[in-house]
Amino acid sequence: MKLALFGHRGKVGHVLAPALEAAGHEVRGIGRGDPIDVTGADAAIDFTTPEAGAGNVRACLEQDVPCIVGTTGLDLEPLGALAAERGLVVFHAPNFALGAVLMMRFAQEAAAYMPRAEIIELHNEAKRDAPSGTAKATASLVGGDPAIHSVRLPGLVAHQEVLFGGDGQLLTIRHDTLSREAFVPGVLLALDKLATLPPGLTVGLDRLL
Ligand code: NAP
Repeated sequence: MKLALFGHRGKVGHVLAPALEAAGHEVRGIGRGDPIDVTGADAAIDFTTPEAGAGNVRACLEQDVPCIVGTTGLDLEPLGALAAERGLVVFHAPNFALGAVLMMRFAQEAAAYMPRAEIIELHNEAKRDAPSGTAKATASLVGGDPAIHSVRLPGLVAHQEVLFGGDGQLLTIRHDTLSREAFVPGVLLALDKLATLPPGLTVGLDRLL
């Protein structure tokens, strides 16, 4: 596919761009300050910032290009509405790492038996939004409005623990993203399934599995 990649020089983007090319896609990187011209692209991928991402996605939809959004902290509802209006797809995964999706699924299962939960999410200090999109998605799956604790420190990539406390016992479900290669298979899966999704917004890698 012909792809426009917003944020190709970022921590995720610079791992993703060569991986997409190795998978046979043609990638055009669009960085900060570049004109948002996605003419001829089959899809756009955004891994930028909450401030930039919404404008990038809107501009792509206005140019009739469907979008895969990795950027977290965006207000996706208006973008989903615009996409639906134009018969286009916007796909967002709060976390493109398969192990993280399984962590959320297992946490949802555990919550049925151990409802007292709290979430600790730990990310690199460069991550601007808190709590993380994954933590918010996990909280809504677990239910009961669990407290979310956000840690931002150098050295971290993306990590999350869901702790379930019961009388005399503690269950911890933990996922660690150790490098940004973890996000590549999820993005490739989203590209593969993009044409099969209904117009408008679809959220979550689990919807593609
Ligand atoms: P990062 O290293 O800060 O990279 C962000 C990139 O966006 C930078 O290269 C920046 O360019 C670029 N950028 C900023 N404004 C732009 C604009 N208007 N147009 C085009 N590019 C622009 O961040 P990251 O760690 O790669 O993460 C990027 C986003 O993805 C964050 O929101 C993060 O939370 C999210 N993320 C999501 C997942 C997931 O699985 N969903 C996984 C990891 C990260 P400059 O270099 O010029 O500043």
